[in-house]
Amino acid sequence: MSDRVAVMYLGQIVEVAGRDDLYSRPRHPYTKALQSAIPVPDPDEADRRTRTVLGGDVPSPIDPPRGCRFHPRCPKAQTRCAEEMPVLEPRLGDSFGHRVACHFPLADREELPGAPPPKVTNVASLGGPAVPMRGGDHSAIPWDTP
Ligand code: SF4
Repeated sequence: MSDRVAVMYLGQIVEVAGRDDLYSRPRHPYTKALQSAIPVPDPDEADRRTRTVLGGDVPSPIDPPRGCRFHPRCPKAQTRCAEEMPVLEPRLGDSFGHRVACHFPLADREELPGAPPPKVTNVASLGGPAVPMRGGDHSAIPWDTP
């Protein structure tokens, strides 16, 4: 089993790193958004986490956006992102084994804008009590992207 992980968006590798490095120091905003949607078994940990819900629609891979393909949905996008495709390379002092295709990679422990707080769903109409839904609304997790 490999200990290296590659993250792809619209048919391109946007980040590649060793498993532990990728999980502890994600550099690409898409990687960070994916990680925020991973379910955790500890309810207290789930409450502490910030989940990023990406806006916009997944572009067509037949006619991808100019520049960075992720820019229409990226919370960190700037003008340069729509004009220039980023190169997959080490950034922020990372080793050659950790490469990211992003003009503005995430610093260590940098967070993306998060989701609203968990909402309470009343399931009394289904014959049960009102229960809080841990981790918020899961209807729009970013795993719907290729
Ligand atoms: S290059 Fe720009 S749009 Fe693409 S992931 Fe990085 S910050 Fe976001």
